[in-house]
Amino acid sequence: PRLYIPEDSGALAVGADDVAEVAAAHGAEVWRTSSRGLFWLEPLIEVDTPEGRFGWGPCTAADLPAVLAGDRSHPKAVGLLAELPYLKNQQRLTFARAGLTRPLSLADYEAHGGGAGLRAARAMTPEAIVQAVTDSGLRGRGGAAFPAGIKWRTVAQTPGELKYVVCNGDEGDSGTYADRMLLEGDPFLLIEGMAIAARAVGAARGYVYARSEYPRSVEVFGRAIEVARAAGWLDGFDLEVRMGAGSYVCGEETAMLESLEGRRGVVRAKPPLPAIAGLFGRPTVINNLLTLAAVPTILAEGPAFYRDFGVGRSTGTMPFQLAGNLRFAGLVERAFGVTLRELLFDYGGGSASGRPIKAVQVGGPLGSYVPEAQWDVPLAYESYAAIGAVLGHGGLVVHDDRADMARLARYAMAFCAQESCGKCTPCRIGSTRGVEVIDKFLAGDARQEELLRDLCDTMVHGSLCAMGSMTPLPVLSALNHYPGDFRR
Ligand code: SF4
Repeated sequence: PRLYIPEDSGALAVGADDVAEVAAAHGAEVWRTSSRGLFWLEPLIEVDTPEGRFGWGPCTAADLPAVLAGDRSHPKAVGLLAELPYLKNQQRLTFARAGLTRPLSLADYEAHGGGAGLRAARAMTPEAIVQAVTDSGLRGRGGAAFPAGIKWRTVAQTPGELKYVVCNGDEGDSGTYADRMLLEGDPFLLIEGMAIAARAVGAARGYVYARSEYPRSVEVFGRAIEVARAAGWLDGFDLEVRMGAGSYVCGEETAMLESLEGRRGVVRAKPPLPAIAGLFGRPTVINNLLTLAAVPTILAEGPAFYRDFGVGRSTGTMPFQLAGNLRFAGLVERAFGVTLRELLFDYGGGSASGRPIKAVQVGGPLGSYVPEAQWDVPLAYESYAAIGAVLGHGGLVVHDDRADMARLARYAMAFCAQESCGKCTPCRIGSTRGVEVIDKFLAGDARQEELLRDLCDTMVHGSLCAMGSMTPLPVLSALNHYPGDFRR
């Protein structure tokens, strides 16, 4: 029989290569696919059945005889994948092909609906493409949530002989892995999204900026570019992947441009907007990887289809990435409006430790700690802003009741001090003073609380970019929601 075994880094880390090798030695035909994103089941092996793919996991080589015999009563049997509530109850648009296709097979990609967006875009005027993206309500998935259509229109309307499309794949938020899954698992989706963006704004060159911690993504994506080029997908559009050097702040768009230009990743003051004078001073579309990866669906299905997912101005779906202390950590793509409680319990299965969940950091290291009282707030840009939290890149890191929130608050300041680019004072100096103030506070000096709040206020209002202005979110949310942890 043919076995489907993922070659995603998450599966490789737990031995998928060994399983695949032994399966091949047993004479099985092995197809290396992307991952479903159900990481507690990796290495997951699937086989075709008349009712769809049936899976076993997490597998070792010792389970292969049972899998090859199709033993559905084996303890590792998980059932028909399409029937698993974890998958069945998702709304996978961006991750529609996750686990189904071989990452570098354009034929697999097209057999599962890929390419339809680019075909539709080629039959449209650039203006109509920009309008479709605008009408879809798509907003930046990197955290800032800026409307993609407005950005694209600005670049399209700015005169320039050479324009760029830059994909921000510097996925540095704690607990996130969606960019990596797409770069490794469905690279043609991103290539398609970028080719559509290039056509819409008149860009001749594109760059994908990937983080240095993702060497495999860079390699796979580089090979995918060659396949796409040979297939004529990139006519008139020159695309390259570049690797960062391990700096969190290079996820900030202007620091990323500096890095792409070969300089230190220091934030640039705006204006000028990158849409007007971006990479090498040229008009540049900069979008998060997940933003660009949503574009093919919008063009293929129409903006109304996409806009119908979500709530209010938070349209479409978001790939939430469950991580930390959860039984079933994995990728859950749902329309905006799902609640944290649903993600934590209906999907995540509660804490892995079996202890009560105390706090969930949503949106990366600069996101707020969300306490149980707020777990029923719909995950959407506006409702999260109303509680002083952010969605960021959709990462969730779960802590049980043993978490020391004061130490986590201190960590946020220390992280900022470590990663600050140094351009502005509130962040560069404020984060270092923040660590000191928290240390004195925890040593019993209660007067430091006011100082800490003042300092956070200065960082919020005086910092040049989100690094400094958002560090107070984890600090103050920890202090406000878990005051007992600070008074020892
Ligand atoms: Fe640099 Fe921090 Fe200022 Fe951002 S807030 S520009 S990272 S010093």
